[in-house]
Amino acid sequence: MSFIELQDVTFFYESDEESALKTRPAVDGVSFCVEKGEVVAIIGHNGSGKSTLAKLMNGLLEPDKGEVLVDGVSTKDKKRIFDIRSKVGIVFQNPDNQMVATIIEDDVAFGPENLGLDSKEIRSRVDWALKSVGMSEHAKGTPFKLSGGQKQRIAIAGVLALKPQVMILDESTAMLDPLSRNEIMEVALRLVREENMTLINITHFVDEAMEADKIIVMNDGKVFMQGGKEVLLQDEKLASIGLEAPLAVRVKNMLNGVGYDLPEVLTDEELADCLCR
Ligand code: ADP
Ligand code: MG
Repeated sequence: MSFIELQDVTFFYESDEESALKTRPAVDGVSFCVEKGEVVAIIGHNGSGKSTLAKLMNGLLEPDKGEVLVDGVSTKDKKRIFDIRSKVGIVFQNPDNQMVATIIEDDVAFGPENLGLDSKEIRSRVDWALKSVGMSEHAKGTPFKLSGGQKQRIAIAGVLALKPQVMILDESTAMLDPLSRNEIMEVALRLVREENMTLINITHFVDEAMEADKIIVMNDGKVFMQGGKEVLLQDEKLASIGLEAPLAVRVKNMLNGVGYDLPEVLTDEELADCLCR
């Protein structure tokens, strides 16, 4: 069984049935699976339902129709909701909204303290989480003086300290400069390799999706496409919903359109390589 399973999930923000009938659902008949240790990218333009999916996957929201199973347990099972939330952690877009304490290590300790862990375990988790994101030397500092990228690392450490099996980054790099964006992605991908974590990266940067094993494209609350990296090669289909395929794919298609015969490429390096040849 997959670690996370969405089975024909529909979700309306309107609580009463009558107004729900008049509006369209934020998530509409969505099904997909996430395997353990997998890197999944969810892409789609604003309002396509990505953040709603994230909250459905850790039980912050409950489906109106269908089921979300986490490690075999339905998120509708109220008795297991705490368990589900500790297995699936979400890092949101704005790190400023995720800071709760004035000292960095206290901020990271906040989650484990709420789990009721003993102080030795909390200490070891906080040290490990800060080390994992490369922020150990800032432990005693204040989060307010950090750069956006550093704050987002602390937010990731706060989620890591809960030892989740799945980490969802919900546009967590969107407010960062390209260098910090890459650094955060490197930290996340290293955690997948070294800690066997599962990563769900929600992003509107198509480049970030190139790192994923599975790509889910959302449009108007529905799954528009899902599959492996081949999804990113479909530039016309992506363009039809206002998304751009990776630059290398577009350049290759443009050149082939004027008579070249270049093979499929995904990354800039692959494109450069076949152009040189
Ligand atoms: P994305 O993360 O892809 O931008 P969202 O999941 O945030 O998309 O939003 C999906 C749809 O649900 C949008 O139409 C949005 O306006 C609506 N929506 C999101 N959050 C709320 C909310 N708290 N109350 C009502 N509607 C919402
Ligand atoms: Mg969102």
